[in-house]
Amino acid sequence: MGFSELLRVCGVAIVFFQLITAGFGWGQHGHYAICKIAEGYLSENAMAVVKELLPESAEGELAAVCSWADLFQVRSHYYWSRALHYVDTPDFRCNYDYSRDCHDSVGRKSRCVTGAIYNYTQQLMSACHNPASEFRYNLTEALMFLSHFVGDVHQPLHCGFLGDLGGNRIQLHWYRRKANLHHVWDTEIIDTAVKNFYGSDLNNMIEALQRNITENWSNYVESWEECDSNRTVCPNPYASESVSLACKYAYRNATPGSVLGDDYFLSRLPIVERRLAQGGVRLAATLNRIFKSCGLISNAGREVQGARLA
Ligand SMILES: [Zn+2]
Repeated sequence: MGFSELLRVCGVAIVFFQLITAGFGWGQHGHYAICKIAEGYLSENAMAVVKELLPESAEGELAAVCSWADLFQVRSHYYWSRALHYVDTPDFRCNYDYSRDCHDSVGRKSRCVTGAIYNYTQQLMSACHNPASEFRYNLTEALMFLSHFVGDVHQPLHCGFLGDLGGNRIQLHWYRRKANLHHVWDTEIIDTAVKNFYGSDLNNMIEALQRNITENWSNYVESWEECDSNRTVCPNPYASESVSLACKYAYRNATPGSVLGDDYFLSRLPIVERRLAQGGVRLAATLNRIFKSCGLISNAGREVQGARLA
């Protein structure tokens, strides 16, 4: 292979890598924050079951595995899971409808983030109430996928428009750097806040969010935890909230080629912070409901692909 041929192949490989790494969810920091907040709201029983299911490498910490579903090796090994991180909605409609929107790119029903949340909840529930099913599902993976996807559905652009792939196709600048709008919401807003306001330490941001939950947002927490009609899990309202926030805040003043700076950052950061808090509180509430009156279940010694710390 000549040098120019090699360059071309490398170029194709880089573009391909960018495509498959685009838009897989809050960055590592966002998922870590959501799961760290959730840990503080788990019931004793849910915490015991969660610890039983976590891979050894997590050392008992749920937050350590919440980006697992985004790992390159996991995405490669579980290629089928790529559609489960988001749900695209029709352009400019600003609403979400499970039966209309929850499908993958070839139209297979329920293959989207809200469908995945129902599916993994069901797997964990059935293992709880029917021990024989412990052997049917990989429950460690079910827990790690569920914890990840409850986070993803709270990222407004994970319920963005189909035409721009939830902002992935909107190229712009985040301050001086090139970025796409989706990445701004996955990563840039959080990382800029950590750097500018929290002494470059994510734990300080998480502590501030935890304080907000017990102080400023304490009146809302009960309503965040609620599920209509006593259901175990209710991802549909979370997706509806997300697309509404995408329209009101994410897409607004973020057209292709624009430069997003202080105005955009400072006005959108409160939205991101609230979504991280809601994601954490709701993940805990969901796990508490799933594992309520559930004895200890185990993963029956199944192997977990690429489990590792965040
Ligand atoms: Zn994701």
